[in-house]
Amino acid sequence: MKLDYRVVYSHRKTVGLSVERDSSIVVRAPIGMSEDKIRAAVQAKRLWLYTKVNHKQKYPPRAARKEFVTGETLLYLGRNYRLEITSRDELPGVRFHSGFQISRRNQPIAARLLREWYVQRAQEKLPPRVKAFAEALGVTYNRILISDLKVRWGSCTPKNNLNFNWRIMKAPVFVIDYLIVHELAHLIEPNHTPRFWNIVSVQVPRSEEAKAWLRENGGVLEEDF
Ligand SMILES: [Zn+2]
Repeated sequence: MKLDYRVVYSHRKTVGLSVERDSSIVVRAPIGMSEDKIRAAVQAKRLWLYTKVNHKQKYPPRAARKEFVTGETLLYLGRNYRLEITSRDELPGVRFHSGFQISRRNQPIAARLLREWYVQRAQEKLPPRVKAFAEALGVTYNRILISDLKVRWGSCTPKNNLNFNWRIMKAPVFVIDYLIVHELAHLIEPNHTPRFWNIVSVQVPRSEEAKAWLRENGGVLEEDF
């Protein structure tokens, strides 16, 4: 059996292997390491990699489906907040204070109301951050679009429109910043070259931590709630 992998070179001392969300293998290697040495490092871990790749396909990480009952928790900016279904039927939509409140009358449409609430938060919180990072990077963009595509967290289009999935509002702020800078950096460098990662890590010092968070919690961002 052959293992396909992608090599990302950076200023590091050791080889790191990871299996991405789409089950592809990424090898993080020190700049200048020979192809033979990289291949050997992959071979040494091949059993672990096969298990990880196949496990992911058979059992995609999925959060339990929400029923929108009192006591369930919802992720917002990296923290879990308690949901309460209240008898206060006059409550319009979603109320968020130190937790989420939805009226019993609105419970059947809770999923829609919450999605609208997250989209609104994205529309309000993302543009100022995108603007600040774009200025820091010296890039210009056309429009910011909040999308509902589950497959991607963010993307940029040929017209320099930036797309962000509303589900990224579930992630901690440093992860959101990483996703914003990732897309903006593509306006300078289209490919994931060492130069690209350099640009990203200068703007987001916690970018490695953000990538690790996404590897661990990517499934959460694929779920609606
Ligand atoms: Zn990218």
